[in-house]
Amino acid sequence: MSNSHITRPLFDQVMVPNYAPLEMIPVRGEGSRVWDQADNEYIDLTGGIAVNALGHANPELIEALTEQAKKVWHVSNIYTNEPALSLAKKLVDNTFAEKVFFANSGAEANEAALKLARRVAFDQYGEDKTEIIAFYQGFHGRTFFTVTAGGQTTYSDGFGPKPAGITHLAYNDLAAFEKAISDKTCAVILEPLQGEGGVLPIEPAFAQKVRALCDKHNALMIFDEVQTGMGRTGQLFAYMGLGVTPDIVTSAKALGSGFPISAMLTKDCFAKHLIPGTHGTTFGGNPLACAVAGKAFDMINNQTLLEGVIHKGQLIRQHLTAINEEFSVFKEVRGAGLLIGAVLNEQYQDQAKAFFLESAKQGLLVLVAGANVIRFAPALNIPDQLIEDAMNKFKQAVKNTVAAF
Ligand SMILES: *Cc1c(COP(=O)(O)O)cnc(C)c1O
Repeated sequence: MSNSHITRPLFDQVMVPNYAPLEMIPVRGEGSRVWDQADNEYIDLTGGIAVNALGHANPELIEALTEQAKKVWHVSNIYTNEPALSLAKKLVDNTFAEKVFFANSGAEANEAALKLARRVAFDQYGEDKTEIIAFYQGFHGRTFFTVTAGGQTTYSDGFGPKPAGITHLAYNDLAAFEKAISDKTCAVILEPLQGEGGVLPIEPAFAQKVRALCDKHNALMIFDEVQTGMGRTGQLFAYMGLGVTPDIVTSAKALGSGFPISAMLTKDCFAKHLIPGTHGTTFGGNPLACAVAGKAFDMINNQTLLEGVIHKGQLIRQHLTAINEEFSVFKEVRGAGLLIGAVLNEQYQDQAKAFFLESAKQGLLVLVAGANVIRFAPALNIPDQLIEDAMNKFKQAVKNTVAAF
């Protein structure tokens, strides 16, 4: 190995310790398989945390990337560029949105959404309409505004005074929501299925009531689809299956299928408040990212692929149910499409990490969502046969973990 001097201990020497990565270092991937430095093979059910929607080293994405790389990478927002306009047109043509703002990460797309909501309220109703309603266990990114909107104080505490005016409520609690929303509310931000918070689906009736009350109080409904968007749930965006149309949708993770890019989608009547000078980003909408995302969009916005997501999700669930019948480890298996959470029962409370580590030993990469949920978010095009192989490895991992208890 040419890079044998690059090993995991180097992480502890030179990297800020805000992550705790596994020992193994992946060096290459192909589809839903990856290999580490010692050439051990793993099946990847993480999709880079719901990012690599089309698998590793996808030939069509490589082509889109290298073609654009030979032309122009970056031009700044003093100019527009063809890949950005082309991608924006696709997003507008295939969603409720009429306008698009590009950024580079989920947090930045949400930051733009929250700032837009505040600005719309300020312009139309004055200084007092600033309140934002968000939900416990929600996750919206790590900028200070978005992490404060997120529903876990362990992530937002300890950094000094927080952006003010954000109220947190229990997810899916209609009575609490009805009580909290008022004419001072400028926005409600929520995920259509809480990903990081434990793969917790929204109740459609709750989503519809949030929509109705946002209308009544002139508050913007912001759907954070950073994790659920771009085909993850079997729809292009999850809102499409819920019978509601939000005012703002944010997308990131799978939007570039591995290349960093995010977008905030909204309607003309709100977008018009972000006049020149009100907001911006150096890298947002760069030609390289937009060229890759444009290709990824065409591949994901495809009926056969989206139907495959539902089918493959069911396949994984069938296996999890069978594993549970044999080993009695899960209280519930939940989620949508290829975002699946296996919730551990009382006996294995908060031990998700143990299953995760044992899976890695079996050559299988899975995720956790909190301490109690094992999460699966594979590439949307993972072959059925590889799912079979993966679930056999997972069965062995469950068997070993249970035996060690
Ligand atoms: C991952 C995630 C984010 C944050 O995205 P970054 O690219 O890490 O900033 C925001 N919202 C949701 C729902 C996410 O899953």
